[in-house]
Amino acid sequence: AAAPSTVTFGARFARELTELAIPWQAEEAPEPQLLVLNEPLATELGFDPASLRNAGGLRLLIGNAVPEGATPVAQGYAGHQFGFYSPRLGDGRALLLGEIADADGGLRDIHLKGSGRTPFARGGDGLATVGPMLREYVVSEAMHALGIPTTRSLAVVATGRPVRRETLLPGAVLTRVASSHLRVGSFQYARAMNDDALLRRLANHAIARHHPGAAEADNPYLALFQAVVAVQASLVARWMLVGFIHGVMNTDNMTISGETIDYGPCAFMDAFDPATVYSSIDENGRYAYGNQPLVAEWNLARLAEALLPLLHEDPEQAVALAQESLSALHGQYSAAWLAGMKSKLGLPESLDDEAASPLVDELFTLLQERQVDYTSFFRSLAKAARGDAEPARSMFLSPAAFDAWTERWRALDPDADLMDRTNPVYIPRNHLVEEALAAAVDGDLEPFSQLLAAVTAPFEERPGLERYASAAPESFGPYRTFCGT
Ligand code: AMP
Ligand code: MG
Ligand code: MG
Repeated sequence: AAAPSTVTFGARFARELTELAIPWQAEEAPEPQLLVLNEPLATELGFDPASLRNAGGLRLLIGNAVPEGATPVAQGYAGHQFGFYSPRLGDGRALLLGEIADADGGLRDIHLKGSGRTPFARGGDGLATVGPMLREYVVSEAMHALGIPTTRSLAVVATGRPVRRETLLPGAVLTRVASSHLRVGSFQYARAMNDDALLRRLANHAIARHHPGAAEADNPYLALFQAVVAVQASLVARWMLVGFIHGVMNTDNMTISGETIDYGPCAFMDAFDPATVYSSIDENGRYAYGNQPLVAEWNLARLAEALLPLLHEDPEQAVALAQESLSALHGQYSAAWLAGMKSKLGLPESLDDEAASPLVDELFTLLQERQVDYTSFFRSLAKAARGDAEPARSMFLSPAAFDAWTERWRALDPDADLMDRTNPVYIPRNHLVEEALAAAVDGDLEPFSQLLAAVTAPFEERPGLERYASAAPESFGPYRTFCGT
């Protein structure tokens, strides 16, 4: 068979961290059928997109043909799920195929989700279905287009194997690309093995791949921790600014790289309300929109605990160093969020925080009181900056308070073009995602393609796409998301 690429696969993780890697094979798919291929990403990675579409290419995309140099492994990790510790999670239905070098010399993981049971599968069937894999594809690619660090989606291939859920559903494999799949839970897993040499090897691997500057520090492992705190502070600020709710911020779903990972029950917030929760399993709202910065801090405290033996030989000193570094999170997060909010409002970064903060606080009180559609509001506010306040104004029942706010804001001379570059028109709105996935599962991929086209160029308003820019109709009702399907 013609090689689908001249891409060279490596197996650095599998080789350097054998304790965290179980060599494994993907399950054979009876009838692979390509549902979506990310051609720009394929090209960026060095693949020939055309050859990924033929039979040999499809087999590579789902792990049925293992390219030279790749060593598929199930990765071990632990994790706190909704606050409760599970010592052995790991890739129950996923495999790391291997890494490929990108143009900047960094490594990119090629990863399979839905590729069959592994030794970490416990009671699960190891499989994934078309709807949720296409969901991860469109939401992760939307996040990337919004400029938010994230795992990417290379392809979704239907396997031809029915999967038993509440009903029988078509099976699929997602081919995912990430700068790595190292998670907070990877460190928890290594720490639990009580092998400091292994923990150090894992930390060195993480430093080399994600935070090479830490290697130069007096205390490289403390510098690693500080770097993870910094990238997560920035990441969660970006989620908040765009109204993204991850939905399942367990420690196994938080990366060391600072990329968003695991698009299970995630969703974009419609009406602004910090208490918004869409996930059906998040009964107590632990992962509500407004809690995300606090959860990030909680998760990073678990990372610190895992790293303690590397931070200082004196345990008390190690704790003190970790606490001091973690205490930087709040300030870093707030600074990133406020800087982003200034851009959303078209205001220069140099504007005094003392001038910006009260203006922002008052706006959020108004938005919450009226449960205004978060994304539409910010986009229409640019029109107000250009002199037409009506589209934004009409979102408020009694616009007097909004008028007073707008007058003060406009006095600061907001830059409408900056606002249009910052505030998306098109996000993967919940009702549109559901509609596209339902059609796809029935064999019609057209709505999915159209949604994908809209959300992967999110800032550029185009005629004919009005329905992609509008809030859900009343009839859509309250939204619920599900994970693990
Ligand atoms: P998640 O909630 O997606 O982070 O997954 C948590 C854990 O459950 C991970 O260890 C997954 O590999 C595992 N898992 C989820 N779905 C399945 C499945 N269908 N079969 C086996 N393992 C699964
Ligand atoms: Mg996960
Ligand atoms: Mg998941």
